[in-house]
Amino acid sequence: MKPAAFGLSDVGRCRETNEDHYSCDASLGLFTVADGMGGHAAGEVASRLAVEAVVESFRRQAPTDPGLDPDRAPQELRSAVSEANRRIVESIQSNSERRGMGTTLVILLVLEDRAFIGHVGDSRAYLLRDGRLRRLTADHSWVYDQVRAGLLSDSDAHRHPLRNIVTRALGSSPQVTTDVAEEPVRAGDVFLLCSDGLTSMLQDDEIETSLSRNGNDPESACRKLIEAANSRGGEDNTTVVVVSMGENG
Ligand code: CA
Repeated sequence: MKPAAFGLSDVGRCRETNEDHYSCDASLGLFTVADGMGGHAAGEVASRLAVEAVVESFRRQAPTDPGLDPDRAPQELRSAVSEANRRIVESIQSNSERRGMGTTLVILLVLEDRAFIGHVGDSRAYLLRDGRLRRLTADHSWVYDQVRAGLLSDSDAHRHPLRNIVTRALGSSPQVTTDVAEEPVRAGDVFLLCSDGLTSMLQDDEIETSLSRNGNDPESACRKLIEAANSRGGEDNTTVVVVSMGENG
């Protein structure tokens, strides 16, 4: 099953710089979104280093066809994230003005009829299947720790003043723990990766409606989602990658 995919990133209506990065490579089945943080443009550096490291990790495998064994995907995802983390930590150590920089990272790897999702931080992966949107990642953020503990509802978390605090990110320590999940892929599935610029402006049911209308055309799906986030205020950079698994297997 070959995916059709498109990615788009937008600075939004309030920020002067865009600290998000993404990659979108349907032939590798590899898709990423990273949302950088840290002053003096350092967030832009962290998210770029993360995306580049992951893409390089998986490109290196490509010449040795038949390609990556899906059973090895979880460990390959973890080692790609560790390499990304190592590069960011090293960059901080050699540039003191980059101290405090970090990034979230969400990766989707589609191999045959299996999808693998790796993530650190609060950038998300979603799956639209049969018209229903489902989150495939659990945010590493303070507000979602409160939701899991039963202290906040999901809708409280959505507009909470502390919603930007991530509890896990690349760059904050030499070791990073990556959550990895697997999802069987079906024809017609639409995956979405996004930074919190989308999810802080739109509720899941709004994303579901937009993606249901446009998901079979990844480019227009990306444009509509970013337009919607900006029409709500565009308070943050918004990045989306839409991966559509086609109907004809
Ligand atoms: Ca953000």
